[in-house]
Amino acid sequence: MKTVQVIGGGLAGLTLGLRLRRLGVPVELFEAGTYPRHRVCGEYLSGQGHNFLKTLLPEPLLARCGARTSRTLRIFCGSQALPLQELSRPALCLSRYRLDELLAREFCSAGGRLYVQTRQTPSNKEGWVTASGRQPSIRQEGWRWIGLKAHAFDVSVGEDLEMHLTPQGYVGLCAVEENRVNVCGLFRTREAVPGLSEHWREWLGGSPGSTLFERLRSARWDENSFSSISAISLHPRRAAEQEGIRVGDAVTMIPPLTGNGMSMAVEGAFLAADPLAGWSSGKMSWQECSRRISRSLDGIFSSRLAWARRLQQTVLHPLGQPLAWNLSLLFPSLLRLFFRQTR
Ligand SMILES: Cc1cc2nc3c(=O)[nH]c(=O)nc-3n(C[C@H](O)[C@H](O)[C@H](O)COP(=O)(O)OP(=O)(O)OC[C@H]3O[C@@H](n4cnc5c(N)ncnc54)[C@H](O)[C@@H]3O)c2cc1C
Repeated sequence: MKTVQVIGGGLAGLTLGLRLRRLGVPVELFEAGTYPRHRVCGEYLSGQGHNFLKTLLPEPLLARCGARTSRTLRIFCGSQALPLQELSRPALCLSRYRLDELLAREFCSAGGRLYVQTRQTPSNKEGWVTASGRQPSIRQEGWRWIGLKAHAFDVSVGEDLEMHLTPQGYVGLCAVEENRVNVCGLFRTREAVPGLSEHWREWLGGSPGSTLFERLRSARWDENSFSSISAISLHPRRAAEQEGIRVGDAVTMIPPLTGNGMSMAVEGAFLAADPLAGWSSGKMSWQECSRRISRSLDGIFSSRLAWARRLQQTVLHPLGQPLAWNLSLLFPSLLRLFFRQTR
């Protein structure tokens, strides 16, 4: 069988690599960084991808790593809260520090060849798949988007996922393993923000009087877990309009406030695995394999991305946010509608 070469060992690349190994396909995976490592991510996986992931990482294994599940979501704005929402599917809560490391280990145990600290130039050549994460863009409709995350201890959240809307964006709180709470925010600015490595606590901590501020008042931060990204592009892209075979954020990034990007990375990897196995065994040409993958990705994700874009543009807009808040108070089913449509 022919070898599939994967560039990027984040969630999409590792899931694809492991799934291909389980199908008996030889795989080489090139990752620019190492494991374990912290990443900017809300660290709750919500959607169909959770079920796919469990076929690769059985629940007892995830539980041994400290994974938790969450069934409820609370949304706050300042000190106000919307009614508690039951999630239609439970979300998996595990740090990317652990999850990516676990996938990398399973990939190697399954016979995959992993090259860490090895940056490869993305290639459209036959046999190569790009899973190298988001395509950066400095500004998006005049705004710059920055993502910050750090783990904290002594934060009083229960099993609920919490989303705190702020004037510049939102901050999510999600309890993960080892009594850690992942604090992750996405913020909009007009100008570049220097000195984030010193000021991140102020960005993530909320303003005095808000529930977020209260939650984090006595937090002990794990300084080593801090990470940040900028140049986030939230403009949806179609797979068919891009060159080569791509999975995960390398195709397109769904707005993070949906909490569905990890699921899309896993779902996309599963969609891509069967055609790639067909190519590897000589049953399908590379062109056909590529066409099938982009058609399936666009077919499954287009509507979700369109809903997510509308949601992002409203909720994270200075004028849209109060409007969305008041409408959600009047019509609680609106939240459930958006949640369903972005999965
Ligand atoms: C602020 C924020 C909050 C988020 N919160 C959530 C959430 O709560 N739930 C959720 O589901 N999603 C969330 N997401 C989205 C989620 O993190 C991504 O969708 C997911 O990580 C995509 O996985 P990926 O494998 O495609 O990309 P990544 O996880 O970015 O992995 C790409 C990998 O490729 C490697 N790489 C890059 N270039 C090269 C190269 N040339 N050669 C070799 N390796 C390379 C990188 O080192 C990296 O390891 C959030 C995103 C942001 C920005």
